[in-house]
Formats: sequence, structure tokens, C-alpha cells
Amino acid sequence: MRLRFALLVGALLMTALQAQAADWALAIHGGAGVIERAKMDPATEASVRADLAKALEAGSAVLRAGGSALDAVEAAVITLEESPHFNAGKGAVFTWDDKHELDASIMDGRTRAAGAVAGVTRTRNPIKLARRVMEQSPHVLLAGRGADQFSRDQGLEPVPNRWFDTPHRKAQWREAVDAITAREKPGQAAALPDALRYGTVGAVARDAKGSVAAATSTGGMTAKRWGRVGDSPLIGAGTYAQDGVCAVSATGWGEYFIRANVAADICARVRYQGTPIQQAADATMADVASLGGDGGVILMPATGAPAFSFNTLGMYRGRVTASTAPRVAIYGDE
Ligand code: ASP
Repeated sequence: MRLRFALLVGALLMTALQAQAADWALAIHGGAGVIERAKMDPATEASVRADLAKALEAGSAVLRAGGSALDAVEAAVITLEESPHFNAGKGAVFTWDDKHELDASIMDGRTRAAGAVAGVTRTRNPIKLARRVMEQSPHVLLAGRGADQFSRDQGLEPVPNRWFDTPHRKAQWREAVDAITAREKPGQAAALPDALRYGTVGAVARDAKGSVAAATSTGGMTAKRWGRVGDSPLIGAGTYAQDGVCAVSATGWGEYFIRANVAADICARVRYQGTPIQQAADATMADVASLGGDGGVILMPATGAPAFSFNTLGMYRGRVTASTAPRVAIYGDE
């Protein structure tokens, strides 16, 4: 009798857990920064929203079919890398030397396996390369020439560095180089343009089994020099995922995100303090702000709804779950 009761309770618990876990969810971002309605032309805005919706569709198609959170975040980020609107893959910002150096990272919450690349120059989709590092190498982070070589060895689609060019990034680069050059002249303190930092892409997902994953991809900061690497390819700073805890992808002023160890800090607040994820992220973002940095994060809790936290005027973002329709947003008040 007692055994039958225990079995019944067990079965009910399993059903409850499955029902909870079955609610897959996906959130994406296309960067945070000074994004103002008045400065956005309607055609560009419509095209940005369409590309965010396309990325939500690519990721949710995987999740709807019962695929893994890992496959979903990769699919969503590939779509955003292919869009010229965002600072990742095609449309990446220019370095000081008029080139592109791309960073990406991915993390599987099931095992906390992770892969990342920094300063790669010839791989069409850097997020695919990050995943290969995770799955096909004994390492977590490969950088520069060696990462390019690994991409060749893996047979990933190569493109010439110029393939990442877009006219609007070129214009931003000129503006940034001029501003930095003026600033470096004693007595002239030109402000760095806002365009220096935003447009990174990322995705976080929870699949029908309740597992989570996170992925982030970027061209970094406009006019970056000396092999500068930001937070995006650093597991813990720009990307983190752990089953039963949370998944986070960040965008913003990388130097501050590294110093605040943003993605891991949010997950640590959830894990050790039991803080609700929104509160955890708001606290970490307040910490970033206290250091002088800005940006935002997308958040996937172990159960429940995806969320966002940012301290910039806007963040390109989107979310969809098994039970709610896709929704994209740009401005802070949406
Ligand atoms: N976090 C990126 C970096 O610092 C930039 C961004 O998110 O826009 O490289």
C-alpha cells in the first residue's frame, strides 16, 4: 500500500516536472546601446525587426521540434551573424587597422562544456567555430592565427576578411578613428562616438527537457587595437549556462563586463543566494554601472520566463516561448 502510494506520488511529481520543463523558451539580443527612436529611419528599423524575428524563428524551430537548447542558440546566432545590421559576422565593426577580428563563445548548461574563439578573421560564422572548439578540441578558448588554422582544419566555410565589410560600419570606423586621434592630441578631448560599442549578438535557450545553453558573437569594439578582446568570448564574463541555474548572454562595454564577471555573477547570485534571476541580473548590472560601464543581458531561468536587464537607452532583443508568441523590441520603453 505504502509502495503504491510512493509510486503514485512519484508519477505525479514526474508529470509536474515534465509539464514545467516542456515549456521551452528562447531569448536573443542584437546589442545594447544608445538606440533612439528619433535617430532610427523606419526602413532600417523594419529590417532590424525582421532579422530579429528571423533569428527567433530559427531558434524556436529547433526547440519546437524537440531539439536541444545548444542547437537552438547556435541556430539563432548564425542567423544574426548573417544579418548586416548587427556587429557579428557580416556587419562586424572594423579594427583600428581597417580589418575585422571576431569573437564568439558558446556554453552547454547540461555539462558546462564550453568553446570560444577570439580575434578570428576568416570564418563566416564564428559561433560554429566556437562550437567546434567545444566539441572537437580539448580546449575552451582559441585565439588569433591558431583559431583561424583550427577553422581551416575543421573545414568551416572560409570567407575573405573583406566579406564582413558593410558601408555603415566603415563610416562608424572613420568617425571613431578621428575621435580617438583627436583625443590622443594633448588639449583636445573629443568624446568617443556611441557607435564604438554595440551590436553584439547572443541567444539563451531552455529546451523541452529543461536544459539551458547560451551563445554570444561579436566583432568587438570599433577601432579596437593591439589584439583587444572583450567579454564576449570569455566564459563567465559574456556567456554562461548551467542547468538548474540559468543561462546568460551579455552585450555592452566589454572591459567592464570582464571586471564584473557579469554572466557568471548573475548565475552565482541565483545559485548561491536563490535570488530570482531578474533581481540577480539587475544587481549585477548595477554593479557594472557603479564601475562606469553600460550594456545589457538576456536571461534564461531554469524554469519560467526569459528576461532582460539593461542600463542603456535600448537593446535589440526578442523572446518566444512554447506558450507565448514571438516578440521583438528595440527601445527601453517597449
Ligand atoms: N561586449 C562587446 C565587446 O566589448 C561589445 C558589444 O557588446 O557591443 O567586445
